[in-house]
Amino acid sequence: MSKIALITGANGGIGSSITNALVEAGYRVIATYYPNGEAEAKEWLEGHDYSEEQVRLYPLDVTDTAHCEESLATLLQEEGNIDVLVNNAGITRDTTFKRMTAEQWNDVITTNLNSLFNVTHPLFASMCDHGNSRIINISSVNGLKGQFGQTNYSAAKAGMLGFTKALAAEGARSGVTVNAIAPGYTGTPMVEAIKPEVLDSIKAEIPMRRLAAPSEIAAAVIFLASDAAAYITGETLSVNGGLYMH
Ligand code: NDP
Repeated sequence: MSKIALITGANGGIGSSITNALVEAGYRVIATYYPNGEAEAKEWLEGHDYSEEQVRLYPLDVTDTAHCEESLATLLQEEGNIDVLVNNAGITRDTTFKRMTAEQWNDVITTNLNSLFNVTHPLFASMCDHGNSRIINISSVNGLKGQFGQTNYSAAKAGMLGFTKALAAEGARSGVTVNAIAPGYTGTPMVEAIKPEVLDSIKAEIPMRRLAAPSEIAAAVIFLASDAAAYITGETLSVNGGLYMH
């Protein structure tokens, strides 16, 4: 029987690539999406040649604690243990701290950081009981180095790293590894929409002088999910072309 992977924000730029890599690696993927974007999620699925066994679309608002608890309990009953959880959903609301509203702060903390509680908590006990499970959190280079105009995002992404280490300590004896990936600037539609001259200046700061391909982030997920990574836990794997070395 295939191992089961659940990914949040599965139809986003990076999420889509991770979903594809998980399918290619033989996982059954529970591809969760923001419920308000149901039409886009269905269109995204139709654009792929996945069978129902390979990918199941599942609505999940990662900001809603009660909804996550209820709907993930139902999912566990239907699917059995989730072997690999990829916490990928995230948003930005960039502006300088002086201009930042409480709403911009709270939206980013809720979606990027509180979501780790909302999605991981309902699944964690089952993962511990089952053993040999993986939790992979998609953080960011900007959580490691701090980024101008992103106090909310840098705080949330750095918070993810603290969560990763603390939960790694709790999961270790049960064989549940918890790791983070910190991508650098990645060639998703969101980043590619940046004005060409601004994008050129971003690339000029990257030692490799190019963006990451989404498939390069997905490859790191596949490695951390694999049996070969069974002894790696509490780590942050940077995939950033040398932009920040820690
Ligand atoms: P996208 O905006 O393409 O994807 C984000 C996904 O998260 C979308 O599918 C979005 O759904 C979903 N999402 C947003 N809010 C919620 C919610 N409340 N509940 C459930 N799903 C939600 O961004 P990327 O693919 O670029 O980013 C993926 C991850 O990688 C994020 O965590 C991001 O912070 C991180 N990252 C990205 C980098 C980059 O350069 N692109 C660099 C470093 C880290 P919908 O579209 O329907 O709103």
